[in-house]
This record gives sequence, structure tokens and C-alpha cells, in this order.
Amino acid sequence: MRKRLERHVDWNIARRKAIVTPQWLRDSADSGQLLPCGKYAALGDLYQETAQNCPDDNTLDSSKKGPDSSTESHDEETQSFTHPAPKSDTGIRHDHRYACMRYAPLICPNQGLVEQIAILRRDRELEGLDMQALSYERAISVPFPFPITSDNIHEVSELPHIGKKIHSKIQEYIEHGEISECKSILNDARYQSLVDFTTVYGIGPSTARNLYASGLRTFEDLEKHYDVSPRTNDEIGQTSSPDYLKASPTTGLPQLSIKVGLALREEFSLQIPRSEVEEIHDAVINELKRIRSGCVSTIAGGYRRGKDKSNDIDIVISHKDLKSGGDQVKGLCAELVKRLYDKGLVTHVMHLSSFREHNALRTSHWDSLEKALTVFKLPHKKGQEHVHRRLDLIFAAPEVYWTAVVGWTGSRMFERDLKLWAKQEEEKKFDSSGITRRHDSKLYFPKSEQEVFELLHLEWIDPTLRNADL
Ligand code: ATP
Ligand code: MG
Ligand code: MN
Repeated sequence: MRKRLERHVDWNIARRKAIVTPQWLRDSADSGQLLPCGKYAALGDLYQETAQNCPDDNTLDSSKKGPDSSTESHDEETQSFTHPAPKSDTGIRHDHRYACMRYAPLICPNQGLVEQIAILRRDRELEGLDMQALSYERAISVPFPFPITSDNIHEVSELPHIGKKIHSKIQEYIEHGEISECKSILNDARYQSLVDFTTVYGIGPSTARNLYASGLRTFEDLEKHYDVSPRTNDEIGQTSSPDYLKASPTTGLPQLSIKVGLALREEFSLQIPRSEVEEIHDAVINELKRIRSGCVSTIAGGYRRGKDKSNDIDIVISHKDLKSGGDQVKGLCAELVKRLYDKGLVTHVMHLSSFREHNALRTSHWDSLEKALTVFKLPHKKGQEHVHRRLDLIFAAPEVYWTAVVGWTGSRMFERDLKLWAKQEEEKKFDSSGITRRHDSKLYFPKSEQEVFELLHLEWIDPTLRNADL
């Protein structure tokens, strides 16, 4: 099986080999020559590659060559595959233009380089230079399967999304072990303030720039500005209680959530181990069961992509009954959040949006699913105090459950290219709340995650290979 093979051999390497069953060896030994490999391919998925990459007697021992009638007949099979597969947009490749057609494991052999490029990206993003930020983000998302050195850097320039400018930065990194521009960015006071400000939940680059422009520089400045002292998070919990459902679905995060984000910023900066993600999921589902039976859920986000530690928890919830499930899920978001809040598990609601009818023209980037962005804290037990965690709850009708799971599994770049692929290659629109055919707005209802990929004519990519971002 492909999955088993991939535990030992990278798929991109496997594709350059002939992987056969032991029978090939026996039959070759019996017939005294290397037989064509195609029909011995160990993996159906690699039939073509195995046939194509089969070693022949010539490549192994040129002294023994000499065609005879039997090799000729065998050769017929290899003949049709002797030419390398055309560089088309089908098939997973590490140099594919779309991130949703590349394998991106969690661990990257060029981590140091990628971290430097991420500083450039961050700087552009903070300054509102979105196109530049995106091109660095794209460069980061292209996996080069080996550590880049001066010997193979020429191959890097052939990769998609690596233009001249980025190539020269990579060159600089290879030569000097760092990129000089990164050094000056890191030393820049404005950059430091903007980075600090945007670590606060609820503050994005443009708010951060406005705060900076009004003279604020440090967390202390922000605390004064928003009238928050770091130790008052319980008070904020209280003041937020009458207001907690008021968050506007259109204006994004309200002022209140910046206050909460600021008061809890140190707790939010602590990453969440997998075991606690699971514990929080269990606690949520436990309450969900009491208000609605027959629900299903998936922990999405970085957890699903195999990350050891997450910054938040993303849970997609639906109902197993395809017929009545839609109605069962409607309004459930607010109901569950209220229950979790009453139980003291959810301490703050940063944003709560209700279901909007699926809109094929979808002009906003928000999907139409019900969702709540909340703050969650496990009850303390055995003297162990838990910290506040960010918890996103997403509710999907059964027919769009799998698109929601795909949409919330990420990573960001993977999702971006999935949408682009759907639009440019498939004439469809993809987002978490559904797949639509563009010309007649026909909706598709995939019954599994695999079906989402099939509908979009994408090859299956395991969630753990969707880590296209840093
Ligand atoms: P971590 O939480 O550890 O930082 P993550 O990949 O889980 O990593 P999130 O910000 O939780 O990051 O987002 C998870 C995925 O959910 C993203 O990849 C994105 O595609 C999707 N997502 C996040 N916010 C929204 C949103 N408002 N609407 C639609 N999809 C979203
Ligand atoms: Mg997450
Ligand atoms: Mn999230």
C-alpha cells in the first residue's frame, strides 16, 4: 500500500524507481535476464513509473548486451513508457504549481532558510504589501526535498514561485548562512512593535499600523490604550457576559475581543499539546451530546495535520443524518456555546456568526457556516490549573461536512491553492461551505473527504502532507 511504502520512502523518490514484487527477482533469475518491471509493479499507483524506470541489462552490464527474440518481445511493454511522463498539471509533484498537488510534510529539510524567508514575508505582511508577502509565502510553500546547497541550487530556480529576487536571497543564505535583510528587519523597532501588536488575538496588520501611527510602541502602551491590566482577565470574563453574543458577524472581531486578547496574551502564546486538544474536544462533545444526539465531529486545523503543538483548537461539527441533519445543526452553534458558557468551560466569545444561506456568488471571504470563535478553559483537577485556549467551533450541515473538514484542515496555503485550482482548472468554486459549479451554480455534496478530492479531480493528499506553510 502507498501509505506503508511512504513510511520508508518519499513518494517523489519512489516515483523515480521501479518498485516490484519479489516475483520479479525470481522470474528474472529463472530466465537469466532482467525482465521488464511493469507487470511486477508492487503498487498499482506506480505501475507507469515502475515500467518506465525498469533497469535493463544494458544499464547494469553493457558487456552482456545482445538482443535476442525474447527480450524484444518483453521490450514491447516498456516501449510505450520509455518517454518520461509529460510535465502536465496532473499528478502530485514537488514542483507542481498548486500547493494542493504537492506533498508538504511537517518537517522541511530547509527549515533554517524557510524561517529566514518567513521574516521577509512577515515584514511585507505587516506593512500591508500583500502581493509581496504572498510571493514569499508561495516560495515557502514549495517543498525542496533535499537540503539546498551550492551544488543543487540551480534546480531550485526551476521550481515554481521562485523568481529572481527570491533566488538571490536563497543564494545569499547558502553562501553566508543568513539573509542580511532579515537581520536589519529584526533590529527594526517598528517591525518589533508591529510583530508584538499582531500577536494579540484580534489585532491584524492594519490595526497594528494604526496603533503604531498613534504613537503606541509596547504592550504596556496597548494596555493603557485599551484600559486593560494583565491580571484582570477574570473581570473581563464578567464584563463580557452580558455582551458575549453581540459580536458582529460582518465587522470582524469587536473591540471587546482585543481587550480579552490583550489580557490573555501570555496564556494564548502557550502552545497546546495534542493530549489537551483531545481533552478539550472530549469536553465539548460531552456537552454537545446532552443537547443533540447523533452529531459527528472532527478536530481539524494543525492538529489534524499532525502538529505536535497547536495555537488553537478547530472542531468541525455536523450531524450523521443526511436527511434531517441540516435542521438539527441549524442554530446549534449558539445553543452549544451558551451551554459551554453556562458550564464555565467557554469563558469568552470573540465572534459568533449564524448560518447564511449558501450564496453561489459569495462575495465575502467568510463562508456561510455557523461558527464561534471562543476562549475555552478546562476545569482544573488535582491541583492542576489549565490555561485559557482559543477554540473555534464550526457547524456544517451533513451535505457540506466534508468540505468544511477539508476547508478547516488547512494549511492556509493549501487552502488558497485549493480554491485557485477549483476556479482555474475545474470551473468550480470551493470553500468550507461547499463546492459549486460556476456556470450554473450546481452544488455538490461529497460524502467523504476522498470524494471532495475526486470531485475536484485532485489526487488524494493525506492531511499530514498538507503542511504547505511554515
Ligand atoms: P494553528 O492553529 O496551530 O496556528 P492552524 O493551521 O490550525 O494552525 P488556524 O488559524 O486554526 O491554523 O486555521 C485552520 C484552518 O482553518 C486554516 O488553514 C484555514 O484554512 C481555515 N480557516 C481559519 N479561519 C477561517 C475562516 N474564518 N473562514 C474559513 N476558514 C478558516
Ligand atoms: Mg488551528
Ligand atoms: Mn483556528
